[in-house]
Formats: sequence, structure tokens, C-alpha cells
Amino acid sequence: MSGLEKIEGVGPKTCMLLNKLGIYELGDLLEYYPKKYNVIKRTDMRNVGHGDKVIIDGVVEGQPTVVNLSVKLKKVIFRISNCSNIYNVSVFNQVYLCKELRYGYMVTVIGKFDKFKNTIVASEVRLGGLSKEVQIEPIYSTTEGLSRKSLDKIIQAAFLGDFLVKDYIPSYLQEKYHFAEKVWCMKQIHHPSDVVSYKRGLQRLKYEEFFLYLLRINYLKRCIAYDPQAISRKFDEIKLNKFIDSLAFSLTVDQERAISKIKEDLMNKRRMNRLVQGDVGSGKTIVAMIASYINFLSGYQTALMVPTEILANQHYENALGLFKDTGMKVCLLTSSIGKRDRVSILEAIGNGGVDLIIGTQSLIQEKVSYCNLGLIITDEQHRFGVNQRNELKNKGILPDILSMSATPIPRTYALTIYGDMEVSSIRTKPVGRRDVITYYKRNKELLRVLELMKKEIDQKHQVYVIAPAIDGDGLNSLDNVMKLKEKMRLAFGKIAKVEAVHGRLGADEKIEIMRNFEKGEIDILISTTVIEVGVNVPNASMIVIFRANLFGLSTLHQLRGRVGRGNIQSYCILLSQEYSERLKMLENTSDGFQISEYDFQHRGEGDLFGVRQSGEIGLKLANVKRDFDLLVRVKEDVDVFFEHYSECEEYVSLLKELDVVKENS
Ligand code: ADP
Ligand code: MG
Repeated sequence: MSGLEKIEGVGPKTCMLLNKLGIYELGDLLEYYPKKYNVIKRTDMRNVGHGDKVIIDGVVEGQPTVVNLSVKLKKVIFRISNCSNIYNVSVFNQVYLCKELRYGYMVTVIGKFDKFKNTIVASEVRLGGLSKEVQIEPIYSTTEGLSRKSLDKIIQAAFLGDFLVKDYIPSYLQEKYHFAEKVWCMKQIHHPSDVVSYKRGLQRLKYEEFFLYLLRINYLKRCIAYDPQAISRKFDEIKLNKFIDSLAFSLTVDQERAISKIKEDLMNKRRMNRLVQGDVGSGKTIVAMIASYINFLSGYQTALMVPTEILANQHYENALGLFKDTGMKVCLLTSSIGKRDRVSILEAIGNGGVDLIIGTQSLIQEKVSYCNLGLIITDEQHRFGVNQRNELKNKGILPDILSMSATPIPRTYALTIYGDMEVSSIRTKPVGRRDVITYYKRNKELLRVLELMKKEIDQKHQVYVIAPAIDGDGLNSLDNVMKLKEKMRLAFGKIAKVEAVHGRLGADEKIEIMRNFEKGEIDILISTTVIEVGVNVPNASMIVIFRANLFGLSTLHQLRGRVGRGNIQSYCILLSQEYSERLKMLENTSDGFQISEYDFQHRGEGDLFGVRQSGEIGLKLANVKRDFDLLVRVKEDVDVFFEHYSECEEYVSLLKELDVVKENS
């Protein structure tokens, strides 16, 4: 479908405006749904209070007049009468109304009621009266040069033309749910006849969006798994076991389970697309490292991509230590690496001189050509856009994919949202780990907090202090990184070394400070949320978060995860003026799964799923969170579809169409 210009009233200029709204073809236009609605219904003036919104119709009494309030501001005033009363109406800057409105005309006035002056301050005056029924009018978001009304007209005109809308719901499901015809449903979204019809149309269209989405990821999963170009690996298991035995700790049950799944995936002639999700501190890094080791033993390169330079650096140093006796060569590639070093690193990547490449976005942004990329690992994967991950995907032959995420997603959601991946969960924490004890403290209890900090420092433990901003006045003027650095130096300068790290420092400086903190040369580290993801310093036993109420729940949980990473009892102190539901939640539980469940209930889907937002997965009307029950039902239907119907001739073409999607999704 295309050909916007065939629609009545659409010329090249309008066409460009439509393009601005993301409308390129007829289909886009038909699915350009209103962002909200105006309900036009006569107001019962008996119950109206001062300042209320009113909609009434009546007859114009006398001739409207213009009052010049200033050069730019003009007011049109007139009076209307309905059966019971006469009201004054005033409208700003719509002088043309003077010509249009005549004594005795029927008009509809929409505006706010000033009870004391018996005046309606109108935002809109329409010729003609109200009909008996309630009217629901669409409100489209639009762009300068294209009024809502014109857009509405264009969309209505589009529905009058010749077009074909493809209906993707299989007929047996149409019958099962008694769905109405698709075009009718679409029209109901634009101009609902009444609330019941609107809901009926909406339900069907939402169903279809979910159906297609789930069909696609289900299909993708099958395609990925049975990809004929997938690598099957052979490697020396004795070497692997020796490596695992050489670790400073023994693996937890869940780590072992995840590793054995990964091993299976890598050896099979099936492409891996696995998500390892585990709470902060559950030990995902070592799982990633072991995966890269298996990949190395089988003769392939691994790319490990992380969201921040600090984290890339930390993984790099960790890997250097881990692999020093294995023959596996590790390199670091971030944007702050100097030109000369970069050239030789890129060369080594290209000729197979390195086996594990650790980096940030640089791994995809630069012209990196790999020699033999067999595995891509993304740590904290929810931080990367789907597209970024895809770019990396294209760099290799068809590499396997392993994603690590610390935002644990309750199983049902994971199944639907990450339906194209296999999921391994790490729930058991390493032995000896103790839950972090979390307290809420009022701002004025700061002295007590300083005492608690001192207790940790006296035991040679380290402390993080988190502030919402680096510096600046206004809201955060009291508790920003710079001010806190001064304050903490004042309080602890004699017994502790205090440093600050934040996003405005150069990469080298940041890494230097982090390294010193890791080595224990810094006792108190003040920071913004740059340390939120991944940073691992097991001797840190306390994190104090200033203005905790300004952070989201999952951010707070992530921040708290910076401590309690060794075997010492650790503490998290949430400082805030108000005590909120969220802070209470954090005090009461340290289970990331429970927290994300709560977060899911209380926040937008986008926040939780990060990159996988509605738009990206083709949802225009349906919403993963609000329509979760529907999503679950559709998932069941899609599973049945694959089991019983996907071979039917009727649906083979449907699946073929999805195949196209596979290329770029
Ligand atoms: P995350 O899952 O948040 O990425 P890490 O992988 O950084 O967590 O692990 C946190 C800490 O736990 C690290 O210091 C790591 O060495 C340690 N660790 C990981 N697995 C184990 C284990 N099985 N036993 C003891 N310590 C472990
Ligand atoms: Mg991690």
C-alpha cells in the first residue's frame, strides 16, 4: 500500500507534513490512531461549579462585539440562550467569529464557566447545535502546518478510497472470539460510534498486534535455533574442567546449570540466543567468562560488550587475571584508547591475535573487523538498544549470542517479552553471602549516618556515597557530589581518603579512581549513578544514597547491589526527606525478582523492559503492562497455532511474510 497523494486533499506539501509524522503510505495513515478523545456531551448546567469545563448549545442573542484589550489581544463577546438561561460568552482572538455569528444562529460553545460573571470563557465555538447522542471525537497528535481537523479529514477520506487491509488473525481464532471485521474496528478507533463499539474494535486490534508480535518472536526463535549456518563446536573438556577447578571459589548450583546449558548450546549445531538473568551480585560475570573460554577452546573469538567504560575496564582486568595461564589473549577496546594503540588492537582483532575483545559501544561503532567471531556476549543487556545488538550480530559469521541482565524479569513476562531467547536464571547466591541490611533515614539524621559510616571505616571496609547530581544549584544544591566531597572530607579527612567519581571526568581519571578504590586506597567514594551497573568491589560494605526518593526502584536496587558482594555484612542507607512506599519495599526485601514484579505493577512497561518498548515491537494500541492478561491469552493461542496449524497451507504465506521481518528485527 502506498500512494498518499491519491487521497483527496493531499498534495505534495501535505504529504511532506504527513511524512514528518511517520506516515509514508496509506497503511500508516489508516493506523495513525488518535492519542486521545474529546467527549462531546451537553453539560447539565445545574451541577456546574466555578471553573468547570462546560459544553452547551444555544441561540445567539444580539450581535457579537469585539473588545480591543491591546494591540494583540482581542476579545469577542456575545450572549447565548438555551431553554432555561442566558449566558455571556467570551472568546479570545477569534475575531472572524463576529462575521460568522448572527442573531438567532444555533451554536455550540466549549469552554470554562465563570460562575460569578455568568460567563463561559470559550476555547471553541462551533456553528450548529449538539446532537442527542454523545459524540466521541479523535484528537491526533500532529505537526505544525497540519491542523488536527485537517488530519482527521484526510484520515476519513483515506477510509473512503480503495485499499486492502490484511487481516492476520487466522479464521479459526476469529470465530473463537467473534471478532468484528478489521476495517470496521479501525474506523471505530478513529471515530467511535459509541463506547461499546469502540471497545470491541480496540480489543480485536490489540489482539492482532500481540498475535503478530508473538508469532514473530516464536518464529524467530525457531529460525535462530535451526539456522543451517550455526556453528557446532568441539573442544577439550579436560581443559575446561581444569579452568573451573582453578577458580578461587566453587560455582553455585545455578551458575553450574547456566554453564551446562550454554555448553550444550555451543556444542549443538543450533544457534544460541540465551539470556542469563540474575540478581545483582549473583555472579553472572564468571558465567560469561567461562562461555568465552569454551568458545576460545573451540577456536573462535568472543566479543564482550558492556554499557560503560568503567565496567569494560573492570571486566578486562578481571579477565587478564583469570586467563593468564590459559593462552587465551584478551584486549580492551573503548573510545578512550589512544590512536596508536587502537591501530594495533584493531589489527590483532582482524588477524586473530586476540581471542576475547572487551569493550563498549566501540565494538560496533568502529570499523572493527573480526577474524573469527563465534560468540557475542552483552553484559547488562537491557542497556543496549536492539539495533545496537544487531549491528554487532552482523559483524561475524553467524555468532551465538549470550546476554546477561541484572534486571530479573518475572518468568511469565520473560516468556512473552524475551520470547525469542532461552532464559537461564541465577537465583542462588554464592555461599556465605548475606542480605544487605537496608535502612531508611531522615535527612536530619545525618549525624547518625556519619557514625554508621565511621564504624565501617574503622573496620577497614569501604563506603560508597551516592548523590543525584554532580553540582549545581536549585533542588540538588545541598546534596551533590561536589558538596558531599567537601562535607565528607571535613568529617572523615583525618581517618579516611575521600574521592569522587562522576560522568564529567575523563575516562582515564575515572578508571584511575576506580582502580584505587578497588585496591582499597580510597575509603569513601562519592559518585553519581555512574557506578550503578556492574561495578564490583567486594570490600565495600556500605552504600549511602542521598535523596533516595529521586531514584527509581530498580536503580536503587542496582545501587544497593554494589555492596554485599563479599562475605562481610553490608548496609544500604536510604536518605530522604519523605518515606515512600518504594523505600519501604527496599527495606523489606532484597529479592530482585520480587522488586521487579512490584516495579512492573507500578511503573510503565518501557522502564522495565528498557529497549523493548512498544513502538519497537510493533504495538500501537496494545500495551504490555495494561493488557497483560490479553497478552498471556494470545501467547497460549500462538503456542497452539505453532503446534497444530503452522503447517496448514492457509498459514504458510503468513509465516513467509514474517520471514522478511527476520532480516532486520
Ligand atoms: P553480577 O551478577 O552482579 O554481575 P558478579 O559476577 O560481578 O555479579 O559477581 C559478584 C562477586 O561474586 C564477584 O566478586 C565474584 O567474583 C563473586 N562470585 C561469583 N561467583 C561466586 C561463587 N560461586 N562463589 C563465591 N563468589 C562468587
Ligand atoms: Mg555484572
